[in-house]
Amino acid sequence: MACSALPLQIAENNLTHCHYVSLHCRKDGEIRIALQEAPASESYHCPLCQAPCYWIPLGEGGTLRPLPFWNRIQDSHSFREADRRLWLDLKRRQVQA
Ligand SMILES: [Zn+2]
Repeated sequence: MACSALPLQIAENNLTHCHYVSLHCRKDGEIRIALQEAPASESYHCPLCQAPCYWIPLGEGGTLRPLPFWNRIQDSHSFREADRRLWLDLKRRQVQA
């Protein structure tokens, strides 16, 4: 799917546009956060211990969940996977329609 098709896909499916970022907290490890906007500064506060952490962008997407939400990588392996499956489901639905 081309990047330019993403906003349309999101609007059509009532998804909220979001930015995924990965935080590396010294105490808590890797945490992935979905935000409405990418952080404005180069650090973002860890949702667990509030320490400022460097973040890296993971990409943009759409979600049905209220923003922001986050997952600690040890706790869930399904964060990215769940969204990938959502996209695949949407694609499948569109193919059938
Ligand atoms: Zn932390």
